[in-house]
Amino acid sequence: MVQEASPRIGGRILSLGPDGGRGPFDMGPSWYWPAFQPRMPELVRELGIRAFPQAGAGALVWEETPAECTVFERGAPDDGSMRIDGGAAALVEALLADVPPERVMTGHRITDLRCTPGGVSMEVACADGATTTLDARVAICTLPPRLLARSVGFDPPLPESVRADWIGVPTWMAGTAKFVAVYERPFWRDAGLSGEGRSRVGPLVEIHDASDPHGRAALTAFVGTPAHARSGADQQLRDAAVAQLARLFGDDAAHPVACLLKDWVADPLVATDDDMQPLRAHPSYGGEAPPPGEWAERLLLGGTESARTHGGYMEGALEAAEAAVAAALA
Ligand SMILES: Cc1cc2nc3c(=O)[nH]c(=O)nc-3n(C[C@H](O)[C@H](O)[C@H](O)COP(=O)(O)OP(=O)(O)OC[C@H]3O[C@@H](n4cnc5c(N)ncnc54)[C@H](O)[C@@H]3O)c2cc1C
Repeated sequence: MVQEASPRIGGRILSLGPDGGRGPFDMGPSWYWPAFQPRMPELVRELGIRAFPQAGAGALVWEETPAECTVFERGAPDDGSMRIDGGAAALVEALLADVPPERVMTGHRITDLRCTPGGVSMEVACADGATTTLDARVAICTLPPRLLARSVGFDPPLPESVRADWIGVPTWMAGTAKFVAVYERPFWRDAGLSGEGRSRVGPLVEIHDASDPHGRAALTAFVGTPAHARSGADQQLRDAAVAQLARLFGDDAAHPVACLLKDWVADPLVATDDDMQPLRAHPSYGGEAPPPGEWAERLLLGGTESARTHGGYMEGALEAAEAAVAAALA
């Protein structure tokens, strides 16, 4: 039985259209790399999902100062990154198609976990204001460890050292914001530009072509403005982002059909205040080992932050879930 706090399944995977509903533009993860990630291409193949290489042909734009923008000609770079047709949410939808709907409870937020003689009892706050209790032999938890430690009660309490360990594991990309500008057509390609850009000025620091194979054109970017400075400044950020795209890619960029902004740090089902700090490295908690004491037989961590080798990536979420399910079955 899946208990998901949000009304939406997918977590950090979120693909939107110009109107803010479901669409092809990824506000969370976009890429996977078959050269070093075995599970993602295998899952894509197994689910019969189409994937396509990230567009990269053309020059890269580098903004050093607001008055200094350099265009770097380069050969077509190919880092082997692949995107999912329809957005990464297509992966979630294909996975869900195989799960009986009555096994997936959305709007069900776990508030407390309690050890029982038979396993674990979960207190659940439902979207309609009701509360309910769910008993299980074992719980696999895909919440990022620091969110789990900060937002869920434990009875008996977790050992303080375990709690501190979990809080110390950064939630991958939880402190970032992603911006997408949707256009009628990928006009930058006419000028030989790839749509890729880097900037020391901001607010956008890393920009990519987010167009898809069906002619839907967009530029996507990571916002460099620190998390604390973004709060309550959505409109200023959108305006500054569009103005920056026009500096880098020309006047056509000043007229997007739509702009999308997702600030993950403002999402309480992903980020905590700890995530206001910049990330330094991919998480490598390797925490599929259960917490000690009474919890050992009852609780398994199965989200990407717990993966041994691909922590932080979608590949890591698959890796950690695989390990957790194997441990639960054993
Ligand atoms: C902007 C951004 C860009 C990224 N780019 C890439 C990329 O290009 N490639 C890549 O591989 N990865 C990328 N990632 C990382 C990728 O999104 C994650 O590795 C992956 O989606 C994590 O999946 P997960 O299931 O471990 O965790 P999550 O997706 O965070 O799932 C945890 C779930 O727990 C739910 N939840 C929270 N609290 C409760 C509660 N109390 N009770 C019940 N449910 C709860 C949440 O709603 C969520 O659905 C990116 C992430 C972001 C934010």
